[in-house]
Formats: sequence, C-alpha cells, structure tokens
Amino acid sequence: MDYTAQPMGRKMMREMNQNMLLNLIRAHAPISRTQLKKISGLSLATIVGMTTSLIEQQLVVEVGVARSTGGRKAGLLEIYPHGGYVIGIDLRDYQIVGAVLNLHGRVIYEEIRSVVLRDNAASAVDLIVESVEALIIHSRVPREKMLGLGCGVSGVVDTQEGISLESWILNWHCVELGRPLKERLGMPVFVDNAVNCLACYEKSYGNGRTYHDFLLVTLGRGLGMAAVIKDVLYRGAQGRGCEFGHITFDMNGRRCECGKQGCLEAYISDHGIFRTYNELAPSPLEIKTLDSGMSAIDYLLTRIQEGDRYARETVALTGTYLGVGMATLVNLFNPTCIIVTNGVGHHVDPLVESMDTLMKQHIFSVLGNNLRLIVEDNTTLINWARGAGCLVLQDFFSSPL
Ligand SMILES: [Zn+2]
Repeated sequence: MDYTAQPMGRKMMREMNQNMLLNLIRAHAPISRTQLKKISGLSLATIVGMTTSLIEQQLVVEVGVARSTGGRKAGLLEIYPHGGYVIGIDLRDYQIVGAVLNLHGRVIYEEIRSVVLRDNAASAVDLIVESVEALIIHSRVPREKMLGLGCGVSGVVDTQEGISLESWILNWHCVELGRPLKERLGMPVFVDNAVNCLACYEKSYGNGRTYHDFLLVTLGRGLGMAAVIKDVLYRGAQGRGCEFGHITFDMNGRRCECGKQGCLEAYISDHGIFRTYNELAPSPLEIKTLDSGMSAIDYLLTRIQEGDRYARETVALTGTYLGVGMATLVNLFNPTCIIVTNGVGHHVDPLVESMDTLMKQHIFSVLGNNLRLIVEDNTTLINWARGAGCLVLQDFFSSPL
C-alpha cells in the first residue's frame, strides 16, 4: 500500500464537496441550505455557490419553501428527477425485463421482451442492444439524458470486467457483456449478479430500506442470495461471493446443475422440489409441467387442494431443507433481517412453518434473537430490472474518489 500523502487538488476537493452535498440532498430531501450547513460542516457561502451550480446543471431543483419562524424563507432542495435517466435490464432464460428510471429511481417506463437467451450466448449482445434501443425509443427519453445501463444476470459475474463467468440457468460460460455493450450503446455499462441487483432494489426502495444489515434469499428457478452489510453489498474478495445455492447440503446427494454433488439448490429450486416429489410419489411429475410460468410450489399447492399427500409432504420437506440452510446463514452472518422471496410473485409462505421449526433447531446460541424474517410474495420482475438500474445510480452518486 502506498502511504505517500498526495495533496488534494482544489478541483478534486470541490468535486468531493459537491458530491457530498448531492448525496445529502438525496438522503434528506426536501432540505434547506441552512440544514445542509448544519449536517455538512461547509460554510453557507460554499453551499449557496454549489447548490446554484447544481441547479444550473439540472441535478437539483427547488421544490418549495420551509416553514419560517421569521426572517427570510428558506428554499427547499431535492434531486431534480428529470436531470438524467438510467436503464436497468434483467436477463432471464427467455425474457429481457427492462425499466427506465429517473434520478429518484422511479420507473418511468417498463417493457418485457420475449427473447431466447438460454443456450444462445452468441446472440446475447445483439438481443440486449435491440432491447435497450427499444427502451430508449419507447420511453421517449432523449438519448443524451441516459446516464448508463445496469444489467443483471444469474450466476457468477466478473463485475469489474462485465463478464458473465458462469450462468447455469442461461447455460452461459465466459460471456463478455460490458465492453461490447458499452461500445455499441455508447454509454457506461454495469453488469452484476441478478440477485445483487434485486438486493440493491430492496436496499433503496424495498423491505431493506430500514436495515443496515440484511440478507436476501431468492428461490425459484435457482436458489440465490445477496448480503448487505453495513449498507454495502458484500461481494467477497473477488466480487463473486454469496453462492448460497451451491453450499454442500449432502455430500453424497443429488447432482446439481453446476456439476457438483449435493448442492442446496438441487433441493430448493423448481427442479429440486419436483425431484423431491418424484422421490416420494409413485407416479413422477415432469418439470415441463411448469412451462406456463408457474413455480413448483404454486403447482404443488394446486395438487394439495386436490388432496395429493405427496405434494403436502414435498412442501413440508422443502421447508425443512430451506430452514437448515437459513440457520447456517444466521450462524455465519448474524443478520438483523432476512428477506425470502420467490422473486416473481409466486408463493413462498407454504414453506414458512417447517422452515421456521428447523431454523430454531439449528441456529446457534442467541444468534437468532431479534431476527426479522420477511417473506415477500409480491416481488415483480420489474423490481429486478429496477435494481439493475440502481447500479448506474450508485455510480452516478458515488464519490469522485
Ligand atoms: Zn451447485
């Protein structure tokens, strides 16, 4: 590490102060210049100068006046929502889910396109470019106002280089997205694991808003996880951590899609749940039963209503598997909150009873005390894309250092 002190240039100092103000306005809006002086420690003259510049740059806007107890009325500031826009997309097996967000992170336009991405890495960049161009045209946002593209993809991602290293769901191996998309679209491109993107959404706009530390577990086509620790996404040393679905659940167990044996995902995913059913029931089900977009749990719920006891047992057993996995997470992270979701509006709650029992049995000591468990059945596809858009917003509002 280089400890040589470098004098900070005036320009850099000004940029950092301006960035601090922008973030304070973002976090505390609507806020007056006097309040900004109190929390920033900058002089009022500096704040007046910088906020005037931010207003001229169309990044900040006055939205009213504070209630006054005498003297001059204080103008209230917030981020100008139309100062810029970002695009977020989520890449799924057979869909590209896209959203255009303003600087407040609100979705101003959304579009879901049916495309074949699974087994089709060769056409991925072309399909994404087409989809993004359509989002720009249909949202009617001038191209020069687009600040960048955030792109969520399942599996292991090299976020620095923008490469999808392994996606078993898409059957992609080492697919370069960041560089070619940046060249073709002419805007900054950020690529990350899709569950990390959803965690960005939860942290900024969803259930994670009020938590500094939380875990997000998504179960459906695969079993995903993201960890937010001290308000920041935890990525591991190489930016590729948190593969909850591929921790070993049974070393002699089922073969997983990743090629290893006994991964938790081989038990808690649509495929895994069907496999559990088929191990219990005399007549097997086929995974293609889910082609209608139903989740395995939703499908088993319909069978439970028809009196299928194997379906009931499968749901209970899946809950116990998930409970053991979740107890491990609590023992490792001691989180304040865990959000569990199917991610696309399907039910997770039928698993909760048996999951909860097993968690209580396997959580070490007092680590589970005060744990808040949120089972979110209302996550939509657009939330994943909105989270991908948050990658661009995070970069836009990040410190110049
Ligand atoms: Zn695996």
